[in-house]
Amino acid sequence: MKDALLSEYDFVVIGAGPAGLLAALNIGLANAKSSGGRNGGKPYSVALLDKRDPWREPVSCAEAVSAKGLEALVPKIEPAWIREPIDGVIFISPNGTRVTFRHPGSGLLIDRALMHKNLAEEARRLGAHCNFRTRAVAVSRFENGKRLVKYEGESSGEIRARVVIDASGPGLGFGQGEKITQGNFDVEPALFALVRGLEYPTNYIQMFFGKRYAPGGYAWLFPRDKDVANVGLVIGKKFSKEAPARKTMTDFMNKVYPGVTVETVHGGVIPCGYTHDPLAVDNLFKAGDAANMVNPISRAGILEAMMGGKLAAEAALAVIELSAESEKQPYYKAFKEKWDAAYGNANLRIHRAKAPFSEIKDETFDKAAGSLARIPAEKVTMSRIFLSTLWSTPSLIWKMRSMISR
Ligand SMILES: Cc1cc2nc3c(=O)[nH]c(=O)nc-3n(C[C@H](O)[C@H](O)[C@H](O)COP(=O)(O)OP(=O)(O)OC[C@H]3O[C@@H](n4cnc5c(N)ncnc54)[C@H](O)[C@@H]3O)c2cc1C
Repeated sequence: MKDALLSEYDFVVIGAGPAGLLAALNIGLANAKSSGGRNGGKPYSVALLDKRDPWREPVSCAEAVSAKGLEALVPKIEPAWIREPIDGVIFISPNGTRVTFRHPGSGLLIDRALMHKNLAEEARRLGAHCNFRTRAVAVSRFENGKRLVKYEGESSGEIRARVVIDASGPGLGFGQGEKITQGNFDVEPALFALVRGLEYPTNYIQMFFGKRYAPGGYAWLFPRDKDVANVGLVIGKKFSKEAPARKTMTDFMNKVYPGVTVETVHGGVIPCGYTHDPLAVDNLFKAGDAANMVNPISRAGILEAMMGGKLAAEAALAVIELSAESEKQPYYKAFKEKWDAAYGNANLRIHRAKAPFSEIKDETFDKAAGSLARIPAEKVTMSRIFLSTLWSTPSLIWKMRSMISR
């Protein structure tokens, strides 16, 4: 998509991943709803930039989301987005003991590339100018009611924006040196391979816990369909020197799937920490990985990013007509409070429990899995899995109390 760019927009959204797409979409939806309301009778103008086509395969992701969570965020889940429904999780301990947690209909493995494409089309239908293969290279400080966004790519130039939403993913993004969060906290390496020829139940995701597989993180097999699986791992930042991702991935494949044919291997990073830094300052808003919105232990970030993008759009719409920063503060605060209520508070509790969780010994996982494996599958609940692991090492109960108490 290559809409011609104007020199001035009300909103510039940088990045058309889940966060940026939901931000652009929600501004479009607000335009459609207010039909000639707050912007002197005109819809707000929106530019959505991405340095690549956001549907380029493979998207660096295992593509699992909660079905209910996705349903609440998008206008409609297109059937074509669903690769497979997920009916549960199989946890595998270091000695290979498998514990099945059944939860029919709980999740979806999605075709993110197609979802990105359809959401971009919808944002465009609602008025956004989509300009992909265009990289934002700088965002100026806020002066005279505007920020300047410099971009490069097949064309280059500068946009004057009344509001900027940075949804550019993990790492140091825009607004460096300003009082705003960045997506560079507790960044962990992740690798995944597309693998053909394995046998697995297509409606279960498999998670391998323990240092034997992926120190400080976990390894996974997420089906893409009945022929191709996404096999990967994420390593805790603290362990990434002693367990370099490539080598750990090779060791994992050799241990668990010896002799399989790996089609392609891809990398990515996941910002898995929690920070209290502001999500907005001077008409610059952050959403998704660019704001460290990922669940620190499951490393899920798709719905978190979508929610972040939606809330950023709502807050941005609320401040765009205000001039004094002091008048905008309550809306920045409300953005943070809504984010915390949706995911942030849970992420903070999980973040506090992450260090003790990553210290759990392989024998503890084996012991817990051994006792859970004796329970009939229909009686295995998520809290039973969690508590059984804790009971195997009582000292962890105190350390991980933030996850048990609200
Ligand atoms: C291997 C791996 C597996 C994962 N598996 C899961 C999973 O199963 N479930 C889950 O919920 N989460 C998963 N995650 C996390 C999830 O992918 C991210 O949290 C999510 O994609 C964040 O969305 P986002 O929109 O914030 O960022 P991104 O998806 O990273 O999107 C950012 C976009 O911004 C663009 N961009 C970057 N810089 C610029 C620039 N300067 N100018 C213009 N455009 C720019 C990028 O091209 C990109 O399209 C996984 C992550 C990895 C690495």
